Parts: sequence; structure tokens; C-alpha cells
Amino acid sequence: MLSEFDLIKQYFARARPSRATLGIGDDCALLTPGVGAQMAISSDMLVEGRHFFAGADACMLGHKCLAVNLSDLAAMGARPVAFTLALALPEANPAWLEGFSRGLFALADAFDCELIGGDTTKGPLTICITIFGELMPGQALRRDAAKVGDDVWISGTLGDARLALAGYRGECALDPASLQLASARMHAPTPRVALGRALASGALAHAALDISDGLVGDLGHILAASNVGATLDADALPAGPVLAGQDRALRRRFSAAGGDDYELCFTAAPEQRAAIAAAAARCGTAVTRVGIIDAGRGLRFVDAAGAPLNLQLAGFDHFASD
Ligand code: ADP
Ligand code: MG
Repeated sequence: MLSEFDLIKQYFARARPSRATLGIGDDCALLTPGVGAQMAISSDMLVEGRHFFAGADACMLGHKCLAVNLSDLAAMGARPVAFTLALALPEANPAWLEGFSRGLFALADAFDCELIGGDTTKGPLTICITIFGELMPGQALRRDAAKVGDDVWISGTLGDARLALAGYRGECALDPASLQLASARMHAPTPRVALGRALASGALAHAALDISDGLVGDLGHILAASNVGATLDADALPAGPVLAGQDRALRRRFSAAGGDDYELCFTAAPEQRAAIAAAAARCGTAVTRVGIIDAGRGLRFVDAAGAPLNLQLAGFDHFASD
């Protein structure tokens, strides 16, 4: 039987030089921020049965729990530095721990983000990461910074993760290959760190956030914080490759109010269009203009011809919906 300390040593403390001033092993880790830098800090928790199915693949979970935190840094325009990991585990299962730590560290290494501490306890499977990033003062892409006249942009594509959920639930029929492709978006989101950093460091965008609970609900946070409204073209929303093959009503619904997308939604002055396209191309991330920020409160949808649509969509709320 693995003890708590053996488990930490074997799966989470790595024998390699640490960039942190003090890493795993003491009461606290110590981080020394770069000269003049500001820290961006965020936590995200994943709970079995709530955020992922019981029995979900451990390696994918390792990836996803860090990806959703990296996505928060991306949305702020921060550079990933380090993270802590608080784990509640029903049992010390070596196969699970091996898979989980493999998925976790593959992504951590890809983004040069170091595990510097955490907590481990017995309990219902719950994974909580707190992530630390850096950026220069004044560069953060805040939710309260959208301006009337801004373009609204989306990175990548939307809706395939929600489509996979619909496939699992039998809400719509998907062939096995389509379900597999769509579910890759659900299990292994790609945090848009390079794009967020480029938008922030080049002062290209005003407001930004990452879309975790569906575009409608999440963009609503920018609109409320910035005291503005928006009009979006429902047919300009970039549907994921599997969703793109579905009918128009489903395309509109899942790209506007899906969930688990982890794409960036940002607003920027129209003068920045060419610079944003160039930055996105350098990052290898597609970006699409989907609408404008306007003065009328709330979010409105129009079709490709500009005719108003009544889509009746809502964002996901853990306490309002199941
Ligand atoms: P404390 O008793 O001070 O809470 P712990 O005994 O829980 O410390 O942890 C010992 C060390 O191992 C600490 O440095 C802590 O940050 C680290 N640690 C505990 N769990 C994890 C984990 N899941 N991943 C990484 N580091 C961990
Ligand atoms: Mg502890």
C-alpha cells in the first residue's frame, strides 16, 4: 500500500531542477516573480460525476485539469509559471496515478509550467489546481475593458465538446468516428496561451475571457462588467468540424451555448484587425470575427443577412441546471 508521502514522491515530485525558489517538500513553495511582473492566479476544480464521468481515462483527466487552468491564464494574457495540485482520491491506485501524472506533466512541460506543491487526501475523486502566471502591469486582458465599436472575436472553433455530450446522452445520433473526434475536444481542450499572450503583450485586444460555460453566458460576463451590449452573427460562429456537418439549428445552438470549449472570446478595436490576424497566424490559432460591441445592453443575434434572431439560449450554470 502506498503511503501519502510515497505517493507524492513517486508520482508528483520530479527529480529535476526546479525554477521555483523552493518546490515540493516544505510547508510552502517559494516563487520569485520577474522584476516588475504582476502575478495572475486562478483555481479550477474538477469533480467526478460533475465535470467528468466516473471511470474517465486518467491520462485525459491529467491533461484536462491543467488545460482548463492554463486556459484561464491565456484569457488574461499571462505566461504560465507554476501550479499547485490538491487531490482527493478514493484510493491510491498506481495505474490511475501513473496515467494521471503522465497526462498532467506532458501538458505542464509543453507550457513550461512547474508543479510546486499541493495537498493529497482520501475522498471522492476531486482535482483542484491553482495556477500562477506572470504578465507586465497594465497588460492583463480584463472583462471590464470592452468598448463600444469593438469587434468580437473567437479563437478556434466552438460546439464540438457539447456535441460529444449530446452524442453520449443519445440526444443526437453520431457515427463512432464523429463521436470520437468531437469527444477529443471535450477531453483534451487546447489552451490558447500563445494567442492570449500575443493579444496582451501587443496591446491588441481590450477585453477577453475563455469560454468554458458557453459563449452566450461567458460573453455576458464581459458585457455586464464593461456596461456594453453586443450583436453577433449566429451564422458566423465558427462551428467545430463535427458540428459543422449538423443542421443549422443545432450548429447555432451548440456553438452559441455549448460548454467545455476553452476558446478565447475577445474584443478589439477594428483598427487592430490586420495585426490580430497576423498574431493569430504566428500562433497557429484561427480567429474569427463574429460581431460587434454596441451600446444597447444585452446580447442580440442576427443571421448572415442581418435579420434579428430569437435563439433563446442560456449559459451553463452549475446550480441552475443539471
Ligand atoms: P502539509 O502537512 O504542510 O499540508 P503535506 O504533508 O500535505 O504538507 O505535503 C507535503 C509536501 O508535498 C508539501 O510541500 C506539499 O505542497 C506537497 N504535496 C502534497 N500533495 C501534493 C500533490 N498532489 N502534488 C504535488 N505536491 C504535493
Ligand atoms: Mg497538506
